[in-house]
Amino acid sequence: MAIQFPCTHCKTILRIEERHIGKQARCPQCQTLNLVMENMQFPENESEREAPTTPILNPYSSDFPTTSSTSTRNQQPHRAGLILALGIASLACNFCFIPGILAWILGKQDMRKMDQGVMDSEGRAMTQVGMIMGMVITLLCILSLAAWLLLMIALAVV
Ligand SMILES: [Zn+2]
Repeated sequence: MAIQFPCTHCKTILRIEERHIGKQARCPQCQTLNLVMENMQFPENESEREAPTTPILNPYSSDFPTTSSTSTRNQQPHRAGLILALGIASLACNFCFIPGILAWILGKQDMRKMDQGVMDSEGRAMTQVGMIMGMVITLLCILSLAAWLLLMIALAVV
């Protein structure tokens, strides 16, 4: 007969053979060692409420699962194509710095999301290129506008 109990750390339900009572079972999810005790029968209703989708895992069985990669799940798709296109658009039209600013702002947001693991980091390089292009073009636009204004002022003074 097997006993079931939740991992003390991550609440994953572990199913252990009774003969392992008194030994330690390593949780397959978080690697926490749980001492297997006789009175660790897990209440039925609680198991359904707390961990409805968690499969029952036996750390002693041969099909002990290797750590499955769940890191790419629930991530937002990256917008590297859009940001790169905005960066290129800002290059194409010299004084139209709106796409440049957009590429800069969106790129910065997305880079942060990728750092936090919220967004798919596959497009990181493209996002970075688009963001830097937008940033450079925006700064160049501001500089050229300032230069143009200075020139106007100089001409007006003369
Ligand atoms: Zn655990």
